[in-house]
Amino acid sequence: MKLGIVGLPNVGKSTLFNSLTKAGAAAANYPFCTIDPNVGVVAVPDKRLKLLGDLYKSKKVTPAVIDFVDIAGLVKGASKGEGLGNQFLSNIRECDAIVHVVRCFEDENVVHVDGTVDPIRDIETINLELIFADIEILERRIAKTAKSAVNDKKLKKELDIMKELKDILESGKPAKIFITDDDEISDFVSSLGLITYMPVIYAANVAENDLIDEGENNKYVKEVRKLASETSSKVFLVCAKIEEEIAQLDDDEKSEYLEALGIKESGLDKLISASYDLLGLLSFLTSGEDETRAWTIKKGTKAPGAAGKIHSDFERGFIRAEVINFQDLIDCGSSAAAKDKGLMRLEGKEYVVKDGDVILFRFNV
Ligand code: GDP
Repeated sequence: MKLGIVGLPNVGKSTLFNSLTKAGAAAANYPFCTIDPNVGVVAVPDKRLKLLGDLYKSKKVTPAVIDFVDIAGLVKGASKGEGLGNQFLSNIRECDAIVHVVRCFEDENVVHVDGTVDPIRDIETINLELIFADIEILERRIAKTAKSAVNDKKLKKELDIMKELKDILESGKPAKIFITDDDEISDFVSSLGLITYMPVIYAANVAENDLIDEGENNKYVKEVRKLASETSSKVFLVCAKIEEEIAQLDDDEKSEYLEALGIKESGLDKLISASYDLLGLLSFLTSGEDETRAWTIKKGTKAPGAAGKIHSDFERGFIRAEVINFQDLIDCGSSAAAKDKGLMRLEGKEYVVKDGDVILFRFNV
């Protein structure tokens, strides 16, 4: 899974990205600081892994990961090649979802590219660039399809859908508001590579004291929440500055620090679980002496597909999956005990893997 972090310059993208990856990309107080898209690999927090690793005395424990890409250069005029050019467009298209960072904190020491803090204006600035970029894609595609569509019913239908999408974009709305319950149509729209059709999570970057009451007293956050609800997008609160500090701490210190601030979960942990939800993902687990590991799959993936995540041979030669629910396994204390109690299930090719399944795949080589 790959998430692209976008937002205007100086809203806190690099700070957030750095705390995510603990990498040292420059977070300086001036626009255009981050030039190259940085990719960071982030572990998905999963408390089950340690318990399972201890149970099996695994030599190593490997979490599932998410790639975060810090996408710079998104400024007014970017779709026309201004700012850092429109390289960002192709970087965004490679992602599965967008994290749109919005500045909701006041700080006169941090310059705002447009002079004042105004998250709705900022979001619209970015969205407009993305809309322009999408219109360009559609225009090219429409011109290409129009020639061949004359005697082709399927292409004619696709052409009509693209024209409808273009109308939406030209009215200043994202392609996401195009809703269909026809799988074929939604597959076609997804295949167009429109950025404004991608799922978005808004990360409202707030001051430290807004975290405690979830931004209830921050008017900017309220505005962002309202705007997001119109496209069924999620909003989550983060204080990039705090995350930067938390990123320096080890796990115990982190819990203490969060408690002292009156916060249950770090913003980044929340972001990762929100992305899982948004993209319809879940984790299944494998465990043994060598390794305990979490694997990410889409909800609805069947056992052979899950096996294929580990190795293509597992999928090709799939015989069956031996599945124990994580909690059952921990409660029983061993897979043998779970088996004795009838809690190990033998599942075949049609089994839909669930979150927290601990699986041993049997396969032919
Ligand atoms: P980017 O251009 O969006 O990547 O922004 P940066 O992450 O480089 O941040 C720009 C400036 O804002 C830096 O000086 C940061 O220290 C500061 N900054 C980032 N997040 C916060 C925050 O949550 N609160 C405050 N007060 N300053 C922040």
